[in-house]
Amino acid sequence: MTAYQLIQRKRDGDELPPGELTAFFRGYLEGRVTDYQMAAFLMVVFFRGLSTPELRALVEVMLRSGAVLDLSDLPGAKVDKHSTGGVGDKVSLVLGPLVASLGVRVPMMSGRGLGHTGGTLDKLESIPGFRTNLTLDEFRSQLERLGCALIGATAEIAPLDSRLYALRDVTATVESIPLIASSIMSKKLAEGIDALVLDVKHGSGAFLPDLDQALDLARTMIAIGSAYGRPVTALLTAMDRPCGISVGNALEAAEAIRALQGGGPADLRELTLALAVEMLQLAGAAESRQAAGTAAAAALADGRALECMRRVIEAQGGDPGVLDDPSLLPRAPLTRTLEAARDGYVAEVNARHIGEAAVSLGAGRARLEDTIDPAVGFDIPVKPGQAVSAGQPLGVVHARTERGAEIGLAALRSAIQLGEEMPAPPLPLITHRVTAGGVEAWPD
Ligand code: URA
Repeated sequence: MTAYQLIQRKRDGDELPPGELTAFFRGYLEGRVTDYQMAAFLMVVFFRGLSTPELRALVEVMLRSGAVLDLSDLPGAKVDKHSTGGVGDKVSLVLGPLVASLGVRVPMMSGRGLGHTGGTLDKLESIPGFRTNLTLDEFRSQLERLGCALIGATAEIAPLDSRLYALRDVTATVESIPLIASSIMSKKLAEGIDALVLDVKHGSGAFLPDLDQALDLARTMIAIGSAYGRPVTALLTAMDRPCGISVGNALEAAEAIRALQGGGPADLRELTLALAVEMLQLAGAAESRQAAGTAAAAALADGRALECMRRVIEAQGGDPGVLDDPSLLPRAPLTRTLEAARDGYVAEVNARHIGEAAVSLGAGRARLEDTIDPAVGFDIPVKPGQAVSAGQPLGVVHARTERGAEIGLAALRSAIQLGEEMPAPPLPLITHRVTAGGVEAWPD
């Protein structure tokens, strides 16, 4: 079948033989299928979806397009966590060292900011000197010595995903369940993990805002994990407001450090501990969920998680002094505060607006080649449902220029809505837990 015929058949609703699909993707990797043909195909998938055999073929060809790590000689379970993308989501910076400090190896390969969402790599690189581009040999040896390595998906891991993602990013084809599921799972399976925890976001700031679609995405990724013999647990979590207080790379790194010191905002701590429980359970490192929760809280309280992060930062060339003195992180020269104009209740803190505004301040990229400004962003200390009094700070902009400060203030004004009445409660932080066994409402 030619590329033209394959696109046409999928467009017209036919199910494609997996072998033809595999040949099409190999043809793309080998330069016989063009970017414009692939872009057309991705748009067809956006509208038509993929059958289970088609999806399996796509995952397999993405996974085998690069190196597949074998970490089986390292003792113990290797467990990672992946989030489907959010605003203010700095959980990985706390969770990786926390779970590793409890004896589980965490091979964490993360991404950069995508669209309005932030990326763990950009946050880590706001730590002066921190290198996220370890070679696969360095990654493996650090994992052996310290139990945790925090790196970017290298060019060797699932290169087909990087090429497809770059096309999706510019052709409005990101928000597709089979394309997101295959993109995430091919990278995670190539990492050499034994098990995976997913943080699947829903709400206005998520790629898939609708809860049912988020549940579908979780089930799809869990089924891919099962097909490869890797247990996957997903938590469905709220992304209608930012996670924690800070949005912006260095600001979020500072907030993650406070969480590693046993403090930090309540929602960040609750989400991190819930994900840690799932990772510890999947690794067989705790007798019960309760024991896992107690162990994780203790490792934050007594400094073990922080010490693990110190060793990781040192090993990856960063300045561990930031853990004792977060003022060593980059800081923006200008700050402006938005205050409540009257008494009332916070009706909304729109995560998508805040994420988009952070990108326009320079915290994210409008184009792949853009450099980011690690210092800029927002602190938003209020949450939906909270009562506020006139004059109370609702948000602070950290900007590089006067113009940035103005853009940031305008964004805060439109993202943070006050009402006179107590609003309907926001989405619960965690709504569901999904495993291969099914969906459970949270708390179980
Ligand atoms: N994160 C990924 O790695 N891929 C997607 O498609 C979306 C979010």
